[in-house]
Amino acid sequence: MNSFQKLSNFCRFVARRTWKAPQFTRQNVRAVSYLSGLPETHEMLRQTCRYFADNELAPIAGKLDRESLYPSEQIKKLGELGMMAMTVPESLGGAGLDNLGYAIAMEEISRGCASTGCIMSVNNSLYLNPIMKFGTDEQKERWIRPFVTGERVGCFALSEPDNGSDAGAAKTLAKDQGDHWLLNGTKSWITNGYESEAGVVFATTDRSQKHKGISCFIFPKPVEGLSLGAKENKLGIKATSTCNLIFEDCALPKENLLGECGMGFKIAMMTLDCGRIGIAAQALGIAQAAFECAIEYAQKRTAFGKPISSLQAIQFKLADMEAKIQGSRLLTWQAACMLDANENYIKEAAMAKLSASETATFVAHQCIQILGGMGYVNDMPAERHYRDARITEIYEGTSEVQRLVIAGQLLKEYSQ
Ligand SMILES: Cc1cc2nc3c(=O)[nH]c(=O)nc-3n(C[C@H](O)[C@H](O)[C@H](O)COP(=O)(O)OP(=O)(O)OC[C@H]3O[C@@H](n4cnc5c(N)ncnc54)[C@H](O)[C@@H]3O)c2cc1C
Repeated sequence: MNSFQKLSNFCRFVARRTWKAPQFTRQNVRAVSYLSGLPETHEMLRQTCRYFADNELAPIAGKLDRESLYPSEQIKKLGELGMMAMTVPESLGGAGLDNLGYAIAMEEISRGCASTGCIMSVNNSLYLNPIMKFGTDEQKERWIRPFVTGERVGCFALSEPDNGSDAGAAKTLAKDQGDHWLLNGTKSWITNGYESEAGVVFATTDRSQKHKGISCFIFPKPVEGLSLGAKENKLGIKATSTCNLIFEDCALPKENLLGECGMGFKIAMMTLDCGRIGIAAQALGIAQAAFECAIEYAQKRTAFGKPISSLQAIQFKLADMEAKIQGSRLLTWQAACMLDANENYIKEAAMAKLSASETATFVAHQCIQILGGMGYVNDMPAERHYRDARITEIYEGTSEVQRLVIAGQLLKEYSQ
């Protein structure tokens, strides 16, 4: 199926749902300069997501942030649009789109609300994706289908209090009890920790094998033996919940092992490689929102009798912001296209995440500077973009870890 057919299916999918997307034809797809180069089908997807973000997310993103409110209604609407399971095949109830489409949608949704983008990213990239890649038919039916509509979301439990970047040092134990697995240990920083109704968790089944002894399990939530820590009080993405998951003699059926025993580390790394494209896109959305906020303000605000946008100092900031955003966007699309073409995309995904997340921090910082005092108060969204941007340099691999991945791939390429 080519990308136009996929998007046509997607549009039919949207049309069947209660939330009505605007009707696009080949003629009325608005040409926006920074979109040049996208296939028309993906441009239509982008416009749909942009319309949704402008109308359903941006107007409430400040309130969600201030009150740390989980956007349950918006997540359900995104589910109706197919956005909560974008690359899941239609046969399992997903939108059946490609990773380029996912990156485009993720950027637009995060431009409207970074927290909503984060929740969407965890469900798509971190929960559904490993089950889609490594699950049996029965596991896919049971653990994917109910999680495509936005009514339920999943989570991904890899990090622990004593190890984040060094995920191979996982201490959580899974003991084979003959007819079931018994899990003990604490997973930390788990996004969707409160709202999720299932998750994938990584635990060691053979400590002597180090990272090769880690296995992956699907768990339902709630389940006996699993309790939640307090919600973390975060700097940004405040409309998401983040907490510890504490496993104490938590029994999981044998059939909940995902992939083979000892394959968990590989599953985690493959999931994160792919997830980085989503975080790059999330960072781009935050950067784009901050850029738009800054350029609009610069054209309206006057100082010394003229708009500040006429000052070269401000123009140079805007130019740097745009150049970094567009460079990061091209890296992100490149990584997504390589993944769609089944090419080795590991270096490109890490470069996209590194570049886009540092761009988001840079652009949000400059946005505050351009707004002056108004950048520092929550009457304007600039300070929220600044707080939201920061996490993209930390989760799914810090910027330092991205550099390690890029260097590792480079050295392999050059030793051949
Ligand atoms: C809001 C939020 C949501 C999150 N959501 C999830 C989730 O849903 N699921 C999940 O499993 N995890 C999640 N995480 C955890 C996140 O992935 C980790 O915080 C991240 O991987 C970094 O791990 P750490 O915090 O333990 O830092 P550490 O690994 O302790 O790193 C501390 C510092 O040392 C640097 N460092 C570490 N090792 C190296 C090295 N080899 N070379 C150079 N520098 C290095 C790091 O880059 C960093 O600057 C989340 C975190 C946050 C804050």
